[in-house]
This record gives sequence, C-alpha cells and structure tokens, in this order.
Amino acid sequence: MNRESNEYSKTFLAKLDKLLPDLEAFYKDIHAHPEISMQETRTAEMAAGRLNALGFEVTKGVGKTGVVGKLRNGEGPVVMLRADMDALPVKEATGLPYASKVTVIDRDGKSVPVMHACGHDMHVTWLVGAASLFAQVRDAWSGTLMTVFQPAEETANGAKSMIDDGLFKRFPRPEVILGQHVMAEPAGVIDYRSGVVTSAGDSFEVRLFGRGAHGSMPQASIDPVVMAAATVLRLQTIVSREIAASDSAVVTIGSIQAGTKENVIPDQALLKLNVRTFDESVRKHILAAIKRIVDAEAAASSAPRPPEIIPLDRYTAVINDSEATKRVVDSFCSHFPKDRVRESQPTSASEDFGLFGSELIHRQYFGSSEAQIRKSTIRQKRVAEWARSRLTTIHTLHPLFIQHWRLALKLLYVPQELGCQLEK
Ligand code: ZN
Repeated sequence: MNRESNEYSKTFLAKLDKLLPDLEAFYKDIHAHPEISMQETRTAEMAAGRLNALGFEVTKGVGKTGVVGKLRNGEGPVVMLRADMDALPVKEATGLPYASKVTVIDRDGKSVPVMHACGHDMHVTWLVGAASLFAQVRDAWSGTLMTVFQPAEETANGAKSMIDDGLFKRFPRPEVILGQHVMAEPAGVIDYRSGVVTSAGDSFEVRLFGRGAHGSMPQASIDPVVMAAATVLRLQTIVSREIAASDSAVVTIGSIQAGTKENVIPDQALLKLNVRTFDESVRKHILAAIKRIVDAEAAASSAPRPPEIIPLDRYTAVINDSEATKRVVDSFCSHFPKDRVRESQPTSASEDFGLFGSELIHRQYFGSSEAQIRKSTIRQKRVAEWARSRLTTIHTLHPLFIQHWRLALKLLYVPQELGCQLEK
C-alpha cells in the first residue's frame, strides 16, 4: 500500500467509526421490518432516502421496487455495487428486542410470518454504509459509483425485473459489479473464488395425468400415484447414471402430492423438482433427461395425456471473472490478515446475481462470514444464537464496510498498488 492510499484508508476509517452507531440503528430498523419479495417498498424508501441525502441521483421503482443510485465523480470507470433487499416467509424465534413480528399476505393469498433469515438486511446496511463513505471522501476516487438495491432475490426474479426495466440501458453500463452475501462460517473470514461460485438453479412443477377410479377397482384406473413413484425413482438415475463423476449436480424432488383418501385413486399427481448444476452442458443434459423420463414414464403407464412441465424459477450460475477476482483479492489481502481471506469451493446454493453478468463481462461475488457457526448448525434451534451474534457483527461490520469502499476504491482510484498475490 502506498503512502497516499494509506492516508485515504485512515480518512475512510475515521469516518466509518462515526457512521457505525447510525448504521446499527438502520440495520435494526430494517431487521424489525422485513418485507417479502417484490414488496420491499419500505426498505427501498429507506435506501433511497439515504442516497438522496448523500447527493446521489436516485431512481426508484426500477423493476418494481428496485432503487438505483448514481454518484458521478469525474472521469473514470463505472462500478456497480449491489445489495438484495427481500426477506423470507420464516417466523423469527430469536427473542431479540428488534425481532420481526411482521406477517404479510403472500402472492398466494396466505398470511405468512416474515424474517430477514438470509441476511439481506445486512447487505442493505453495508451498501448504505459504503455509499456514505464514498459520498464523503470524493477526493479519494474518481469515476461513477452505481448503487443498486435489488428486489426479489429469493424468488429469482429481482435481477431480471431490473434488467428488463432497463437497468443497463437507462443507467451507465458498469465495468464491474460487486456483490456480497453473509455466509455461515467462522467469524471474520472473507471467502472469494474465481470462476463458478454458486450453482445454477432450476425449479419445475410436473403434473402427471392418470384416470381416477375407486380403490377397489384399480383395473379401471391409470394410477398417477404409481406413475409418480416410478418417475421419482427413475429421476434419481440421472445424476447417478448419466453424469460423469468429474461433474456434479443435484436433482431433488422436494414435493409429491396426489390424492385425498386411501380408497380413491386420484386422476393427477404433482411433483416439484429442483436442479442444481455448475456447468451449462450438464444443465442442458439434465433438463432434457427430466423431460425424457417424465414423458416416458407417463407413456409406460398409458397416461391419457402427456405430463405438463412448468418452470417455476431459474437462477443462473454466478461465475466470477478471473481478473476482477484477482484485483479484489489483492485488495483484501492488502488490508486484512491473509489467513482471513480464503478461497472457497463452489456451492450448490444459488443466487440471481449471476444474471447481471449475463449482460456484462466482469462481476465479482464474494461471501463474508458473520458468526462462529458452521453450515450444519444453521437450523431453527440455533437461530437465536445466530441472530444474537449479529448484534456483535454490527461492530465487526467495520471490515465489511472496508470491503465495499476498498474494493471500489481499488477499481476506481488510480494509481494503486497490489498487495499480496492470489494463492493458487
Ligand atoms: Zn440471501
């Protein structure tokens, strides 16, 4: 790190310390008032209010509830920072003073409890913090900072709705997009990865058609329960028998529904499938295999009509650009202890951040740990502990804010000095 950038670091950090109490209050407010996908109006207003006060050009309602902030600061590249805003239909059981008590009507008309169980409240807070720092220290960088508060990551349609609403046409095209997600790993660790970070995710509903009859007269039926059972078993052979050992994929049938009574053969069965893949050719093979097997099992049962396969949602894989990853990791290593910056493995989780990259070349997505618990322990019984740990995380947000400003500083500000090298 050169002396000049060291000075900038000190300037940023001094301002960050002053911001933290306000950001903690902001975080608790967002946490206590979670909103489900495409209903993030209050959160969006709070983010837009902050951006307005900081002097950003603010556009609301992008892709329904998305917010875009633009801060022009002389010549230079456009860098986009993204935070997702939506919460999940989960009941909060933490007992925290700022725990959510919110219930809402979901898109199916059901009343559901809501909680920021995926940490997007933290992402929104980080981005507000980063925007605040950039706005306050404008002589430390040049270029255009674009902050994007995205709706509906949990339902895989938020990034798409913003892109469809002209995100990259109405606003400057960024050269780099940076995104982050809290992860369940040891506290204070930052993960990164070049290449595939998260899997593609495809979900489907499969409706199988049979012929109903009384349970005492199976000869009069075409039993969709048997058809569904055979289909489920055969679908399990896709990964085990058709995918090479060097590739990996997941096919899960998470729901199977048919019939209402033990002595009535129904006329339909419904399956709900989820597929995770890391490679587009594997993905295409699996999706084709699902159709082939579903159709063939229906034909084997003499189904009166072909099955319906209805796509539910789709996440593209997040694939980080290698050059952007190197710059980000160099920046991390120049500030954080090296043992806290770790290369991660691809995860079969999915996220719609990758969709932004389908229109742009460079993107970078990385994880930040927030609690000393492992993935296997993240269950409802540990939710209270997890959430309590967030209280202290607020104070350790310090380095997390640094991620944002420092990353973008490195990308916006020249000259710069690279720190440690990527460990291959
Ligand atoms: Zn999430």
